[in-house]
Amino acid sequence: MKYNGITLKVAQNSFSIEEVEDQSDDRFEVIPETPLREDAFDITDEEKINAISGYFKEIMQTLGLDLEDDSLKGTPNRVARMFVKEIFSGLNPKNKPIISLFDNKYKYNQMLVEKNIALYSNCEHHFVPIIGKAHIAYISSGKVIGLSKINRIVQYYAQRPQVQERLTLQIANELKSILHTEDVAVLIDASHLCVSSRGVKDTDSSTVTAEYCGVFLEAERRREFLKYLNSK
Ligand SMILES: [Zn+2]
Repeated sequence: MKYNGITLKVAQNSFSIEEVEDQSDDRFEVIPETPLREDAFDITDEEKINAISGYFKEIMQTLGLDLEDDSLKGTPNRVARMFVKEIFSGLNPKNKPIISLFDNKYKYNQMLVEKNIALYSNCEHHFVPIIGKAHIAYISSGKVIGLSKINRIVQYYAQRPQVQERLTLQIANELKSILHTEDVAVLIDASHLCVSSRGVKDTDSSTVTAEYCGVFLEAERRREFLKYLNSK
């Protein structure tokens, strides 16, 4: 995966242009695909749920848990179903949201910012949650997208085992491709439970990643975008 954007840690929820480096050269060209095997979808969801349920039961048993216990016996199936149908459902292209666009009848040609989109993902290194907010901006090239569809795109790519850098790029690439424009910005500010609930146990830090394309490579546009994010 090539990631030429920035990753920075901030302690409080505010952004400034000084925190963002100019990244106008050396742009990535490759869409950062989630590493999937070719046979990823050769078996059905139900077959996956059955298999994962068995494996998870083994894990629980190995940990010494009593699977006969009333409270625990349904857990393997519950976890397997949650993996396949919910938190990792974005691995399957059949779950990709269908996006319809509308004509930009109002000829609105300034940036549209949708901020504070709830983001729930899972870290692919530890399989524990990444919780944060995504902030998206674009400038219409003639078509506009239904606002809730932006949330759906964020959710779709978040519902995979992820690293935040790749997630940021995947959302930006998808928006550029759907909206037929380069003028897209994506900023994600998220806490990683693998950092806060274990390991260094840093409960205050969050990780910010940003991808700026098209006119958002200009400092003035970025400043405007960041200003909207800081406004209430
Ligand atoms: Zn992790």
